Amino acid sequence: MTKLPIVNDLGFFEIRMESIGGFGANLAGKILGEAGILGMGFNGSNFSSYGSEKKGSPVKAFVRFCKSDGAVRVNSPVTEPHILVIFVETMLGYPGLMSGAGKDTTVIINTASGPDEARDKMKLQCGTVVTIDAMKIAVEEKTRVNTALLGTIAKVSGFIDPEAIKEYIRYNLGKKYAFLIEPNLKTFDRGSVEFEKKYFDDDGKYPAQPYRRDGQALGYMNQPMGGVIKTPANSIHKDLTVSRMGWIPVLLKSKCTSCGECDITCPDYCFDWIKQENKKGKQVQVLEKIDYIHCKGCLRCVEICKFDALVSKVEYEVDHKIIEDGFTD
Ligand code: SF4
Ligand code: SF4
Repeated sequence: MTKLPIVNDLGFFEIRMESIGGFGANLAGKILGEAGILGMGFNGSNFSSYGSEKKGSPVKAFVRFCKSDGAVRVNSPVTEPHILVIFVETMLGYPGLMSGAGKDTTVIINTASGPDEARDKMKLQCGTVVTIDAMKIAVEEKTRVNTALLGTIAKVSGFIDPEAIKEYIRYNLGKKYAFLIEPNLKTFDRGSVEFEKKYFDDDGKYPAQPYRRDGQALGYMNQPMGGVIKTPANSIHKDLTVSRMGWIPVLLKSKCTSCGECDITCPDYCFDWIKQENKKGKQVQVLEKIDYIHCKGCLRCVEICKFDALVSKVEYEVDHKIIEDGFTD
């Protein structure tokens, strides 16, 4: 049987995936767990942690492997991962994202940057950095980043059998999504070769980021009666950029009739309107632009616009000025 290259005090090789709902981290953890346990004969476990919110909220997936006769008596989150996978570069800065990464950790990050730039963005003290432009691969293959990242994980782990993962990609997509099997296997293969890898010693540039569990600010001793949340707040600053899967809607202002169909379709109120005088001197509402901070890239608005004033584009190919202005002609 294949040997685990490194284990912690409890005998586990541990993987933590940090992601946003919609990128497929939960499924990736499930496929990885099944491939290692059912396909390769390790003992272990996998589970995910996520809220009840819609697409766009943080997700963590955890996978543990140990020897086939090892006991699995730990079910807490992975705090010091041997492989840490960051599904979305724009998550960097989330509290605790990099926690527990050390000299024995391989950090795999979905980014268009190389390892040096990525290390600086992550403020990583030391360890191995692997960069892979999984979003580009996913857009080109019309898949998701999760299978590209699985390819990278299998390759850099040094012990996970790619054929076992492929078997469980086929199994999980099954007959219902049979048409997605080949593109996802191709995505997996590309993920296993199109990466860059570099080891960084602790050169004093960045401090360690040990695992830290913050306590709850509110509990039964100080919670207001009825669980009322008294702090005033709103979602005006909520940045949904991280939820986008590589595609954005682009507004072609010259074709827009300001019919308003997109506005009532958009789940996140992303369309900004202004008052203008029409030819008859009447004040009317005119569609001004798309607010890309709140756009999660679902593209429902593109489907609904019958004047072809909204088109979908690959985000990294779009001129950045369009995102700043919110429209183009
Ligand atoms: S649905 Fe199309 S035409 Fe109507 S307001 Fe939206 S972008 Fe303009
Ligand atoms: S893609 Fe369109 S409908 Fe979806 S969130 Fe963005 S603006 Fe709204």
